[in-house]
Amino acid sequence: MFYYKQKILFFYITPRSLNCFIFMKKEVCTMSIAKRKNLVSRSMYKYKCPYKMEPNTITIHNTDNNASAFSEVAYMRRNTHLTSFHWAVDEKEAVQGIPTTRNAWHSGDGNGDGNRKSISVEICRSTGSLSVFKKCEKNAAIFVAELLHHRNWGVDRLRRHYDWSGKDCPHMTMKLGWLRFVNMVQEELYKLDDIKVVTKKTYPRKKNNLLSKKYSPLKVGTKVHVYKETKHWSYTNYKWIFKKRLK
Ligand SMILES: [Zn+2]
Repeated sequence: MFYYKQKILFFYITPRSLNCFIFMKKEVCTMSIAKRKNLVSRSMYKYKCPYKMEPNTITIHNTDNNASAFSEVAYMRRNTHLTSFHWAVDEKEAVQGIPTTRNAWHSGDGNGDGNRKSISVEICRSTGSLSVFKKCEKNAAIFVAELLHHRNWGVDRLRRHYDWSGKDCPHMTMKLGWLRFVNMVQEELYKLDDIKVVTKKTYPRKKNNLLSKKYSPLKVGTKVHVYKETKHWSYTNYKWIFKKRLK
């Protein structure tokens, strides 16, 4: 038992585990929005998300009411209206109602790219107190930046409900300034992006070892997004790259 405790102590003080710890801390710092799922049941797919989807944009909405994210999703889950959305964000958390691999009916554009190829994010409490709404918006900016970052997308992928069908939505976000919100997302995205440059021609690998499958080489000067690191390897948007080849 004593030996076991010593091992644990040893684990915490090795430089490698220190790296890990720093990495974990960084993740905790940036992944700061609490998320939970409350997905529609499969029997409701026919009303809420009948089609498979490969998304290429993110559409921002305001709920036009004062309900919490959880209530908003709970309501969507239990009715059979042909309206639905993927995520709702309030001052506390982001709640998912529809998998992002399926469509949702949120854009008012029929079978257009809004309803069929866009991830919808509802920002809650747009008719309540302005200070609470601004907290919801701030959380949404952080959350949307995470969605973009995860797909290696930029803010050019953001759309308003208005862009698809001319509806005054996201009404409060637009009233306060759409570009202001896009800039908020960009600021959060900058915090998440750890961009490095290839300093010597290198072959990305499927796994973090030199025997694993090799992909097409990257030229000197190629910018890569680093998502996580081990002692010798960086995991990037091109898969694993030997750390010494990046700066
Ligand atoms: Zn909308």
